[in-house]
Amino acid sequence: MPGIKNKVAVVALGGNSITKKGQRGTVYEQFANTRATVKVVCELLRRGYRLVLTHGNGPQVGDSLIQAEAAREQVPMQPLGVIGAATQGSIGYMIQQILQNHLMQMGFDMPVATVLTQVVVDKYDPAMLEPTKPIGARFYSREEAEKLMAEEDWILKEDAGRGWRRVVPSPYPLEIVELDTIQALLEKGTIVIACGGGGIPVFIEHDGSYEGVDAVIDKDLASGLLAKSIDADILLMLTAVDKVALNFTSGTPQWIDSMTVHEAKQYMREGHFPAGSMGTKIQAAMDYLLGVRRKQTRKAIITDHMHLLDAIEGNAGTTISFQ
Ligand code: ADP
Ligand code: MG
Repeated sequence: MPGIKNKVAVVALGGNSITKKGQRGTVYEQFANTRATVKVVCELLRRGYRLVLTHGNGPQVGDSLIQAEAAREQVPMQPLGVIGAATQGSIGYMIQQILQNHLMQMGFDMPVATVLTQVVVDKYDPAMLEPTKPIGARFYSREEAEKLMAEEDWILKEDAGRGWRRVVPSPYPLEIVELDTIQALLEKGTIVIACGGGGIPVFIEHDGSYEGVDAVIDKDLASGLLAKSIDADILLMLTAVDKVALNFTSGTPQWIDSMTVHEAKQYMREGHFPAGSMGTKIQAAMDYLLGVRRKQTRKAIITDHMHLLDAIEGNAGTTISFQ
């Protein structure tokens, strides 16, 4: 196989790679969007990278929640962890098959596998006490919200006058349960899809057993942890913008070609990267670059799929490096 020796790339597919704003999110749309991204990502194989792909699942979980609520009287509600696991399977299936078909076209004979991934979080993570991450697309009236809080053990919060929304905690990812499996597959030359939707959050109980929890993990933070844990050479985060900006929402954003971890920290402090969107990508880049071995040689890149190949040459996107 072409030059595959030791370089490993973790590629995080942003929401936009699978479902685009303004689309309904049909399976056909999802396949078409994913195909466009996967095609470019596969070119990394020719450039000597082994691949681990991660992906978000926000819109898919949102859709599943709408289905579950509509059928509440007919079938029992599933806990969020189970819904997350289901989306790892369905989105994994889609990416896996698209990869297999594209590899065949490229004439590459390479196995592909989706690894159902659990990610350990801390029961006492401050985020567990303060759920902030809205999930599902629905807004409820106060009466509906009170009923759901009583009957389903949910937490709903009033959202800036638009109604009530379900919120869940978004704790920090600490450890990837299936790490050894992911590593073993990679070493065998398998393309791995892992940490879908940030992974299924689990606690470790006193006796060492795992227990699911109603929460979500940011997929970029999980990807940063994964990249650090498998000692990846590069972390690529694909999203809807081709570069990171300072003063993004001002009329005159300044697009950043490259920054160090130190500069990123400073910009973060100055409020350029909002929590929950660009902030978590920058945090993921910092976690990876500060935690990985041989940090001086590693980089994290944020860009869109159209600019990915130029970005790894340093000619597009935003590159974050240790120094
Ligand atoms: P993803 O699904 O890829 O994780 P997010 O919406 O979570 O997407 O985060 C990426 C989005 O963050 C961009 O599409 C952009 O709209 C927004 N964003 C916020 N601040 C910035 C910034 N400083 N520079 C670039 N994009 C930003
Ligand atoms: Mg995001």
